[in-house]
Amino acid sequence: MGTPPPEIAIIGSGLSGLALALHLSAKGISSTVYEYRPSSYSQGGEIALSPNAVRVLDHLGICTELAKQGFNSDTVTLLNRSGVELGVLKQGSLFGYPSLRLNRVFVREALLKECERRGVKIVFEKEFVRLAEHDGKVKVVFKDGEDVSVDLVIGADGLRSRVREFIDPTAKATYIGTMILYGNIPAEILDAKMGNNKERLPMPSMLFGKEGSFTIWPRDPDAREVGFFADLLLPDRSREEWEQTGEDKEALREMLEKCYCQGAWPEQVQTMIRSAPAEEFRIWPVNMVPRLTSWSSPSKKIILIGDAAHAITPSGGQGGATAFEDAETLAYAISKCTEDAKLLEKWETHRKTRVQEAIDFNNLSAKVRKASKYTAVQWTREWFIWSVLKIKGAEGYRWLYGYDAVKEMAKL
Ligand SMILES: Cc1cc2nc3c(=O)[nH]c(=O)nc-3n(C[C@H](O)[C@H](O)[C@H](O)COP(=O)(O)OP(=O)(O)OC[C@H]3O[C@@H](n4cnc5c(N)ncnc54)[C@H](O)[C@@H]3O)c2cc1C
Repeated sequence: MGTPPPEIAIIGSGLSGLALALHLSAKGISSTVYEYRPSSYSQGGEIALSPNAVRVLDHLGICTELAKQGFNSDTVTLLNRSGVELGVLKQGSLFGYPSLRLNRVFVREALLKECERRGVKIVFEKEFVRLAEHDGKVKVVFKDGEDVSVDLVIGADGLRSRVREFIDPTAKATYIGTMILYGNIPAEILDAKMGNNKERLPMPSMLFGKEGSFTIWPRDPDAREVGFFADLLLPDRSREEWEQTGEDKEALREMLEKCYCQGAWPEQVQTMIRSAPAEEFRIWPVNMVPRLTSWSSPSKKIILIGDAAHAITPSGGQGGATAFEDAETLAYAISKCTEDAKLLEKWETHRKTRVQEAIDFNNLSAKVRKASKYTAVQWTREWFIWSVLKIKGAEGYRWLYGYDAVKEMAKL
C-alpha cells in the first residue's frame, strides 16, 4: 500500500483557496475549505485578470465561459493627461490568453460551480481562530469550538490572515496612503453627454498626470458599461471612518472632480466623473503585507498562499494573478511531495522569487502612477513610460504574462 493522501484544510474560500481546492481535486487529492462568511456572500466590483491569471483558470476548464462574461482585450494604451499616447502595453493573446475584466461575482460563481461539480467540500460560516502542531498533525480550532486535525493547513485567508499570525505574528497589513475609487457609466449615458462626434479615448486606457492616474476599462463583453478607477492620496483612518468615506458618494465625486476635472484632463474623463451614477462608486484603501521571511512553518505543515503571504499593491494588476499561480503550483508540489521531500521547500523558494519580481514590477508601476505636484517629475515619468515601452517591447513582459505554472513546476 502507498502513502495515504494527506488530509488538507484550506482556510478561506477566496480566489486562491478555491483555485487550490480545484487544482488539488484535478490531481485526485481531496481537501476541505473552511470559510467564515456565508455561502451567499460575494464581494462585488470588478477584477482585471491578466493572461497569467486566465491561464490558471483555463487549466481548470472555466476560462471559456468567463471570457464570455467580461471585456476581453489584448492591449492597454498609456496616455498622458492631455490624451497624448505614451505607448501601448501588450498584455493579451500574444501570451496565449486575453486580459479579462469582469464582475468578480462571475469569477467566484464559476469557481464555486466547478467545486460543486468536482465534489469539493466547502464549510461556510466556519471561522478559523487558531492552530497548533502536535504529533505530526495540525489541530485547527474554529470559533464555534469545533476542531479538526489534519496533515496540512493552507492559509488562504487573505490580507488580514489569522493563519499568518502563526507563521509571523509581526507581519500586519498596512495602508500605503492611496485609495482607489471605482465607478461605472453606461455607454449610452456617456454618448448622450458627450455627443457622438466627440473623440473617444481607446479602451482600455490608463492616463497619467500630476494628480495621479485614471484608468478606463469596460467590464462587459460589449463595453456597454464603461468602468473606470482612479488613484487618490488620502491619509489613513479607522475602519468606521473608511466605511463612512465609502458611503458618502457625493463627497467621493468631489474628490475625483478636484483631481481629475481640471486643466488638461480629457473631456471624456471629466464627463465620466460628473455623470457616473454615484451609487456605484466604491473605494479600496490599498494595503500591503510586509515581505515575510517564510510562507510556511518549519515543518511545512502550515503554508500561506495569496494575499495572506504577499498582498501587493494593485498597480500592476497582479494580486489575483499571483494568488492563482500560488494555487496551481502548490497543488502540483503537494501532489509530488511524497516523491521529492524537498519539493514544498523548492516551491516556496520559487514562488517567493516570482512574487518578488511581480512586486517590483508593481512598485515601479505605482511610482509612475503616483501624484506629484512637480511638472518636471511628471515629464520625467512620461518619458520613462515612453522609453520603457519602446525598449522592452511586448516581449519584455513575457516573464510576467507568459508564466505557466505547469512548465515552471516541471523545472523544479
Ligand atoms: C477592490 C479590489 C480590487 C482588486 N482588483 C484586482 C484586479 O483587478 N486584479 C487582480 O489581479 N487583483 C485585484 N485585487 C486583488 C485580489 O482581489 C486579491 O489579490 C485576491 O483576492 C487574493 O486572493 P486570496 O484568496 O488570497 O484572498 P481573498 O480573495 O481575500 O480571500 C480570503 C478568504 O478568506 C476568508 N477568511 C478570512 N479570514 C478567515 C477566517 N478566520 N476563517 C475562515 N475564512 C476566513 C475570507 O472571507 C475570504 O473569503 C483587488 C482587490 C480589491 C480589494
